Amino acid sequence: MKPDTTNAATDRTRDTLDLAPRFTEHDALRLNRMFRGSSTQEMLEAVIRDGLAGDLAVVSSFGAESAVLLHLVASVDPSVPVLFLDTGKHFAETLAYRDTLAKRLGLNLVILTPDADDLAKRDDTGLRWSYDPDGCCEIRKVRPLAKALANYDASFTGRKAFQSSTRVNLPRFEVDTSDAQGRLKINPLIDWDASRIEGHFIQHDLPRHPLIAQGYPSIGCSPCTTQVAPGEDPRSGRWKGWDKTECGIHKPGEEPFL
Ligand code: SF4
Repeated sequence: MKPDTTNAATDRTRDTLDLAPRFTEHDALRLNRMFRGSSTQEMLEAVIRDGLAGDLAVVSSFGAESAVLLHLVASVDPSVPVLFLDTGKHFAETLAYRDTLAKRLGLNLVILTPDADDLAKRDDTGLRWSYDPDGCCEIRKVRPLAKALANYDASFTGRKAFQSSTRVNLPRFEVDTSDAQGRLKINPLIDWDASRIEGHFIQHDLPRHPLIAQGYPSIGCSPCTTQVAPGEDPRSGRWKGWDKTECGIHKPGEEPFL
């Protein structure tokens, strides 16, 4: 007997792929409005516990001030993945500090490394940073992070407005424009100033990055980080001598005004 196909067209469920971005500028604006006047702690609890931004990760360089954001997030939920880009060019002190903090705060540390083929093809000498820092950051930071972030809906960054003139207008929530996925970038500390950061370190007895005492207020890879004189922009020691202020993970001028 032939199967009855009378209602086949109407009964069929259309199988479609959802290719829409996860978050839009409108979503980011709505979240910024929703948390206007909320404390950092209130915002983090709502975002992490109530899942307002989907699957989350923290991106941390384990730099001079990273402990504050890591402590705040771990206080709400230590299982939130903490992504660390092991570029192969970090100071030994940064790697030791990473392990100290991860143990102290009980972090769910995820270490990302550059693709071995990329390194072999484009930086076999390991010196690309010296003649093409953008290309070096692309291989060692941007690509491994983009691959890892594809698994998440949103990421926390430790950016603060006072760190640099390129960051003064950043909102708490913004759409990550590095690809078409529409992830959120969340900047919980964007309105924190240096004294508040310092106060949090003291209040919670958080360990310091050992290089701060040696004149490094902003710490990245060792070949691209130099000491900064007192009173200078803390980030002026990054890529000194190059027309470069961010590593390609964050792009100056791209962030929307709030
Ligand atoms: S900060 Fe310097 S060493 Fe590190 S990935 Fe970028 S260019 Fe390379």
